[in-house]
Amino acid sequence: AQSPVTVLGLGLMGTALASALLKAGHPTTVWNRTAAKTGPLAAQGATPADTAADAVAASPLIIVCLTTNEAVRALLAPEAEALAGRTLVNLTNGTPAQARELAQWAAAHGITYIDGGIMAVPQMIATPAAYILYSGSDEAAFETHRPTLEALADTKWVGKDPGLAALYDLSLLTGMYGMALGVAQAFALIGSEGIPAREFAPLLRDWIVAMTDGIVPETAEAIDTDQHLTDVSNLAMNREAYPNFIQAYAEQGLRTDAFEPFQDLLDRAVEEGHGADGLSRLVTLLKKS
Ligand code: NDP
Repeated sequence: AQSPVTVLGLGLMGTALASALLKAGHPTTVWNRTAAKTGPLAAQGATPADTAADAVAASPLIIVCLTTNEAVRALLAPEAEALAGRTLVNLTNGTPAQARELAQWAAAHGITYIDGGIMAVPQMIATPAAYILYSGSDEAAFETHRPTLEALADTKWVGKDPGLAALYDLSLLTGMYGMALGVAQAFALIGSEGIPAREFAPLLRDWIVAMTDGIVPETAEAIDTDQHLTDVSNLAMNREAYPNFIQAYAEQGLRTDAFEPFQDLLDRAVEEGHGADGLSRLVTLLKKS
C-alpha cells in the first residue's frame, strides 16, 4: 500500500500536487484555508480535513504549498507540536534565507524539514517535463520519502544546506525572466513595423536556442577557469554597438528603460579595464564590492 500524505494549500499548484498523489494511489489528506477548494479533490478520493492540525496529524509526510513563506510560517507556527516527528516538505517559492530560517524553526521543534523548488507549472505536474529541486539537512529522510515525491515530478536533490533548492530555483528563474524580457522587447521591436509575431517567432526561437547553447557553457567555462578574454565578441565592441539598440527602441516608439541598465554595465566593464573580455566578465561585475 502507498504511504499516506497530507497536502496543505490547494491553490493551482497544491491542487495539482494532491491530484498527482491520488493518481499514484496515496491516501491523501487535504486542507485549504478556503475550504471549498477541497471539493474537486474529495471527488477524486482525497480526505478533506477540517483544520490544519487534523491534516498534519493524518500523515507522516506533509507537503505545504502556499503563496509565500510568510503564510507558511503563520499557518505552521501553531502546529509545531503536531508536526514533531514528521517530515515537512515546503514547496512554496521563497528565498534561500527564508528556507534556512524555516529549517531552523523546524529543527528546534523536532520536525524534519525539506525545502523544494518546483520547476514546472501546475499542468506539467506528473509529466516527464517537470522536476522538483530538494534540499535539507536530513538526506536520509528525503530518500525515505523520495518514492512518494516521485509521484509529483522527477526529483533532484541539490544538497544538505536547506537554502540550496531555493537558490537553484531562483537562479533558473532568473535566466527565464531575463529571456522573457528580451523576448518581449524583440517582439515589440519587430512589431513596431507591423511584422506579424507568428512570422518572426521561428527566427527568434532558433536564435535564442543557438545563443543559449553557446553562451551558457562558454560563460561557465570562463567563470570556472577565470579566463574572460575573448576573440569572439568583446565588451569594448559591445559597448560601442549598444547605443544603437537604445536609439532604435526610441526611434520605433518603444520604451528604453528596461534595457538601459545593460549600457551602464558595459560602460563600467570597459572603465574598469575589461574591454577585451567577453560577456562572461559581467558575472564578476554583478557582485557587490
Ligand atoms: P495560488 O494563488 O493558486 O494558491 C495560493 C494558495 O496559498 C491557496 O491555497 C491559498 O489559500 C493559500 N494561502 C495564501 N495565503 C495563505 C495564508 N496566509 N494562510 C493559509 N493559506 C494561504 O498559487 P499557486 O498554487 O499557483 O502557487 C503556490 C506556490 O507554488 C507559490 O509559492 C508559487 O510561487 C509556487 N509555484 C507556482 C507555480 C505555478 O505555475 N502556479 C510554478 C512553480 C511554483 P486560499 O485558497 O484560501 O486563498
